[in-house]
Amino acid sequence: MSTLPSLEQLHAIGAKQQPSYDDPAALAATVERLRTLPPLVFAGECDELKAKIAAASRGEAFILQGGDCAETFVDATADNTRNKLRVLLQMAVVLTYAASVPVVKVGRLAGQYAKPRSSDTETRGEVTLPAYRGDAVNGFEFTPESRRPDPQRLLDVYHASASTLNLVRAFTTGGYADLRQVHTWNSEFVRNSPVGQHYEAMAAEIDRALTFMQAIGADPEEFHRVDFYSSHEALLMEYEHAMTRIDSRTEKPYNVSGHMVWIGERTRQLDGAHVEYFSHISNPIGCKLGPNASADDALALAAKLNPTNEPGRLTFITRFGAAKIRDGLPALVEKVTAEGVDVAWVCDAMHGNTFEASNGYKTRRFEDVLDEVQGFFDVHRALGTVPAGILVENTGDDVTEIVGGGEELDEQGLAHRYESVVDPRLNRVQSLEMAFQVASMLRS
Ligand code: PEP
Ligand code: MN
Repeated sequence: MSTLPSLEQLHAIGAKQQPSYDDPAALAATVERLRTLPPLVFAGECDELKAKIAAASRGEAFILQGGDCAETFVDATADNTRNKLRVLLQMAVVLTYAASVPVVKVGRLAGQYAKPRSSDTETRGEVTLPAYRGDAVNGFEFTPESRRPDPQRLLDVYHASASTLNLVRAFTTGGYADLRQVHTWNSEFVRNSPVGQHYEAMAAEIDRALTFMQAIGADPEEFHRVDFYSSHEALLMEYEHAMTRIDSRTEKPYNVSGHMVWIGERTRQLDGAHVEYFSHISNPIGCKLGPNASADDALALAAKLNPTNEPGRLTFITRFGAAKIRDGLPALVEKVTAEGVDVAWVCDAMHGNTFEASNGYKTRRFEDVLDEVQGFFDVHRALGTVPAGILVENTGDDVTEIVGGGEELDEQGLAHRYESVVDPRLNRVQSLEMAFQVASMLRS
């Protein structure tokens, strides 16, 4: 892990998916300000997460990564954060029981504000404006003022992330995340919702396990607090570079804006600025791999991003789509495994399954999401390799963005409460349903 290249050096390599700022002085001032702000996470916490991801890659833990496709400033509220956290904790309890190993909880939150886009511009009628690139860059509203990339937003990302993380830390250590409490929420879901009824048997089993623990007087610290980590796609060079600091213990650079950061499908070019930047930081990192990634691409990325083959350092987050995973994934896993490369394999069950509904909404089918996870487990079981976790885009609210599931949301129903500014998310019920269904897959 040699010296971190300067921002200028990274830009000279050519960074994809960057905004075109029109005020370089304001941008530079923002970067300088960010460099002076305190870290949002500590290097030691990043190392702790790395060790847990390493355990997941050996089958001794299971990763649940979830949250918004794109956080927004207006939604960085206490209610929203609490609901998101609550549903992830509920999912984690079900998965822990089924997998019989600890679930490593990683939120797509407290920093997930920048989005790669397939086009630089968006056209509505006669008007063409810069595409919305996430609240870190510009506004969602379709006006020239709002769509103009504004460097000030990078500072807003920092402050929104700080307050979200502060709340998450309070919730996860202050009693809110108590295992019995979380289980009570699951029991309520099973009791009170028609969809939940299908999962009564498993909820009852968990109930018996907890009652047994109580009867023997077991009350470990782990019942009362949980470890929860933040993650985001490290996309914007200015922000990520300014938030990279040298850890005083190890003298290595860490990105202190999130515990785990990942490289998106659109910025994982081997000779690109993102891969170069990521090769210098010491956080646990993810790299998305879609159906166009070859086994040799994966090997080359692993060699560049984790030359010492450090366990837990690199997670390959595959996003093939339900239709392609069974044919596409085996070649990748086989070759990477044969070469002795140490990675954690996580299934992003969302991004290969996006389509446009007849009424124009960007959506996914719940059944495809589940089928991709099933395909992921099938492939790993056939090869004798380890499925280390899943990634979902979800929310704790009752939005209508993904069709299907027990509530049988149809395309017409999407209009009811579609709130995502980028990709569709599983709502609260769909998230819990997914957890129970994945739990059955884990046990079969
Ligand atoms: C995402 O995770 O929201 C995303 C943009 O994914 P990908 O890079 O895999 O398309
Ligand atoms: Mn997304």
